[in-house]
Amino acid sequence: MLKNYQFCPQCGGHLQRRFAEGRERLVCEKCGFIFYQNPVPAVAVILQKQSQILLVKRKFEPRAGEWSLPAGFIEWGEGPEQTAIRELREETGLDIAVRSIYGVYPGQERPDHEILLVVYRGEILGGNLQPGDDALEARWFDLAQLPENIAFRIHRNILAELSNQRE
Ligand SMILES: [Zn+2]
Repeated sequence: MLKNYQFCPQCGGHLQRRFAEGRERLVCEKCGFIFYQNPVPAVAVILQKQSQILLVKRKFEPRAGEWSLPAGFIEWGEGPEQTAIRELREETGLDIAVRSIYGVYPGQERPDHEILLVVYRGEILGGNLQPGDDALEARWFDLAQLPENIAFRIHRNILAELSNQRE
């Protein structure tokens, strides 16, 4: 579903839903600007210690108070591996290295918000585990005893996969 933006960011004219370049898009009726809407790239990191995995409790909406893999959006000018390293430092206080890609997943948690999640496996290099500014808690869970309230379908699926691989 397209976001319901009304005004052209380029000239302030009205945006209209129109068929353009193969699909329905928002197009400015004044200057012809096409408002492309693309999934927003995000990164999540799997840190495992034997049968344990590091999760963070989300401080902010969406899904505040629920657990997820440490994750965040890629900032402008940043590469996905840098995002992984930055988010881990911000959310958990840990310094990590990115080791491999676990998978890349499309996701839609709300009808008008699509993401593309790059999931890495990481390794801890240093730091002290403590929740940062956008996490309420950061702690290790045994994969056999994960919390009930895990935010986001992709995170739930990955944790289920990792739990199954142990058996
Ligand atoms: Zn315009």
